[in-house]
Amino acid sequence: ETAAPLVEVTGLTKRYGDTLAVDGVDLTVLPGEVYGFLGPNGAGKTTTLRILTGLIAPTSGSVRVLGGSPGQADVLGRTGSMIESPAFYPYLSGLDNLRLLAEYAEVPRERIDEVLDLVDLADRAKDRFSTYSLGMKQRLGVAAALLKDPELVILDEPTNGLDPAGMRDMRRLIRELGSEGRTVLLSSHLLGEVQQICDRVGIINSGRMVAEHNVEDLRGEQELVVRAAPRET
Ligand code: ATP
Repeated sequence: ETAAPLVEVTGLTKRYGDTLAVDGVDLTVLPGEVYGFLGPNGAGKTTTLRILTGLIAPTSGSVRVLGGSPGQADVLGRTGSMIESPAFYPYLSGLDNLRLLAEYAEVPRERIDEVLDLVDLADRAKDRFSTYSLGMKQRLGVAAALLKDPELVILDEPTNGLDPAGMRDMRRLIRELGSEGRTVLLSSHLLGEVQQICDRVGIINSGRMVAEHNVEDLRGEQELVVRAAPRET
């Protein structure tokens, strides 16, 4: 018996004028898996993730998240996401930024220390956000996404723009989330990255889901994947 999917998308379409940003996407994320949504720039990843987090409405298709509709209060409360580059107050510390969010979300204070540890920012928590590297800023974004101890974590290109050390730290963090049993849906345009950190991969190109693979099976499909997404250099 398989557990109910946390994300179940069928025939998802999003149109912007003449542009079909998302064109009939089917996507299923199972409990406990780290799912990689792989595709080149403009493929439709961000649009899909924005729909899943209730930021925008689909044009058509069926979208179930945690058994409900995206944007429902109950669903939002059980989902943590980082879709745009996270907006924090630059002159406040990482800790104070999280305190503000925690207060707003009615999250107990102890949780702040837990998430700061998890994202490896405990020793920089009292420094101003503006002094953080991009990798640290992104990790604080993940910390914010984790505050409510969500069942589902959705991260849009969490390593985008990071230097090698920042990428390594972010990937390690995502693997940690996976190994503690959390369900993660992340997007990436790097094949090597999803091979490193994901259990299953869906490949999207020009708004269409081209293929879906268990990561172990990806090796044999190198050709297909490489055509759909540029390899990491
Ligand atoms: P990236 O990695 O660059 O974010 P992506 O895979 O996330 O790429 P989307 O951002 O979802 O791709 O974009 C898919 C297509 O939809 C692109 O052609 C984009 O130009 C278009 N698009 C996205 N948002 C809008 C919008 N608000 N209005 C018009 N077109 C849009």
